[in-house]
Amino acid sequence: MTSSFHEMWEELRPLGRDSSSGGYRRFAWTGADADCRAWFRAQAEARGLAYELDRNGNQWAWLGATSYRDVAPGGAVATGSHLDSVPDGGAFDGPLGVVSSFAALDELRGRGAQFTKPLAIVNFGDEEGARFGLACVGSRLATGALTREAAHRLRDGDGTTLPQAMERAGHDPEAIGPDPERLATLGAFVELHVEQGRALALHDEGAGAPVGIASAIWPHGRWRFDFRGEANHAGTTRLEDRRDPMLSYAATVLAAREQARLAGALATFGKVSVEPNGVNAIPSLVRGWLDARAAAQDTLDTVIAGIERAAAERAARDGVDLDIVRESFTPIVEFGHALRDELGAILGKGSDRPVPVLGTGAGHDAGILSATVPTAMLFVRNPTGVSHSPAETATEDDCTAGVTALADVLEGLACR
Ligand SMILES: [Zn+2]
Repeated sequence: MTSSFHEMWEELRPLGRDSSSGGYRRFAWTGADADCRAWFRAQAEARGLAYELDRNGNQWAWLGATSYRDVAPGGAVATGSHLDSVPDGGAFDGPLGVVSSFAALDELRGRGAQFTKPLAIVNFGDEEGARFGLACVGSRLATGALTREAAHRLRDGDGTTLPQAMERAGHDPEAIGPDPERLATLGAFVELHVEQGRALALHDEGAGAPVGIASAIWPHGRWRFDFRGEANHAGTTRLEDRRDPMLSYAATVLAAREQARLAGALATFGKVSVEPNGVNAIPSLVRGWLDARAAAQDTLDTVIAGIERAAAERAARDGVDLDIVRESFTPIVEFGHALRDELGAILGKGSDRPVPVLGTGAGHDAGILSATVPTAMLFVRNPTGVSHSPAETATEDDCTAGVTALADVLEGLACR
């Protein structure tokens, strides 16, 4: 591991870490988020990069420019990722890309590389959506995929709105909105990310590969299922007199698993809230959130339709009312073949083994940006595949390989 990588990693490690779980709680616009942002700014300034905070709370560090305003359309190359986390997230999801970006710049400076284009390192805000329920808020606002009005309606679990949270963190919520001129300066954006599965670990019949290139991000979305029944006493209400939404919910969870298994897709109920949430009370409301993903849109449609049908049938049997709301959806993202092939050529140079190309079920800022900016992703091997957990890991050797790969790519894109 390069010394600069190691140093940055150690500095970042304690920020927002929960001592009991060992996981990270770096939620948007909290104190932990502010600590991570201060770290990013310090890294930029330590390298003599021009620091810029954009209208949507994304942080930029510029080499060869003081701001995007200095850059001609398509003239800059950008790299980076995010620093926020899911509840009790791992150390690598997001930070690996940001730390590797600074480390790759250090490596290129060490090589004496001559930059012919401005380089930007970026930390996108609120990628995980852990606090306000919508992922990639920083990049969605920048591209216009999320409007200011819709963003202003976002609320966290305590009822704090996104504008209130931004304001408390010292950011003007009225300033948020699309940033087309900034994005137009980016000729390429490359996001390095820890893999969130085991495709690289299992690659080539288990021989494995440290780094791969993304082909596509699966279509994915979040749906909210509200099952409304009737609250009543757990000790006095006869089973046949109950309208118990927990039963409908439980059956729906099992149906989701079954539908996903049959279709080769993924479906997860990972969050649930219950009212009144008492041990001795039949619930009046069970609200469950479904996350579903598949390699193809029609597969995902089939899975969702199957789950909705199963939920409706069971709810009818239980005397329960059902409302289903699609809270977010991201269509399939195919990364552009031109940039992807360019990365493949850069990384495959001098080797007869092509760099693995893999799809992923996880969403990323790169996926949001790809609608307007030529975008590519590099994945670093995850030996266990575990992600969104304190157990998420990557080896030192693979992190070093990731930094070198990113440096090679940036050299190929920005130093020619
Ligand atoms: Zn991530």
